[in-house]
Amino acid sequence: MTVVTRFAPSPTGPLHLGHAFSAITAHDLARARDGTFILRFDDIDRERSKPAYERMALEDLAWLGLTWPEPVLRQHTSAPHLDAALGRLSDLGLTYPCSCTRADIAAAAGAPQEGVPTHGPDGRIYPGTCRGRPMAEATPDDAIRFDMAKALDAAAPLPGWIETGPERPGTYPLSRDAMLRDIGDVVIRRRGGGAAYHLSVVVDDTRQGITHVTRGLDLMDTTPIHVLLAHLLGAPIPAYYHHRLIRDETGKRLAKRDDARAIRRYRDEGATPDDIRRMVGLPPRGPEGP
Ligand code: GLU
Repeated sequence: MTVVTRFAPSPTGPLHLGHAFSAITAHDLARARDGTFILRFDDIDRERSKPAYERMALEDLAWLGLTWPEPVLRQHTSAPHLDAALGRLSDLGLTYPCSCTRADIAAAAGAPQEGVPTHGPDGRIYPGTCRGRPMAEATPDDAIRFDMAKALDAAAPLPGWIETGPERPGTYPLSRDAMLRDIGDVVIRRRGGGAAYHLSVVVDDTRQGITHVTRGLDLMDTTPIHVLLAHLLGAPIPAYYHHRLIRDETGKRLAKRDDARAIRRYRDEGATPDDIRRMVGLPPRGPEGP
């Protein structure tokens, strides 16, 4: 099997040391197995994504010594594929329109109960107010949600995924109870027709033939959603490598607003690509490059 990995930043700020680590990890995993490393811009957030950040990312990644095939896919161009995937889920009866605002959801959630999580990967777990509304009622002002209980029934027996990284190798089966309790009915299309992360990432990883999704441990909670979606869409389920996160000296995970850790800033101060690798705990490039 040819290994295909990807680094898929959202161009909403300068890339920092955490991105460097993630990109190099994906790149090196593909190169070590004679595979392909793909760069993609996950630019579905049309307001915050900026061409200037894309240009900066392209320069920083090339400076780090990474190479990728052109053209680079920009996720916002995937709309027809997203529509097709949404249509398929909706034909399976697994979607419903939702008009709830954040305030509605908070009000409907009720008092927290001991041992029952109130928040999942997308914030407050949806209490199900609009569940069961027919898709025929959907208006552009509605978000579209994924009916988790029905989806889990439709997918039975539940699939799982292989974790390939050195930290947590093994097979991870989906758990119906955990997905209902900890995730719930996530949004797969935003109000106003905008693309939502979970479906976009699955549709594009499938289109691009990604065999190994490498990304930070912070996204591991979302992986069961993606595995379930891929399975229901009849797509191959990639292997995953959830890598460690790069933190600052206080232990906080780096974020795009941490400009002080931007690759660009280190470059301007005279750092070399090997300095960056060292800072994130990676060995220097060999004479052959990464
Ligand atoms: N675009 C996502 C991000 O910037 C990563 C995509 C993914 O690995 O699922 O966090």
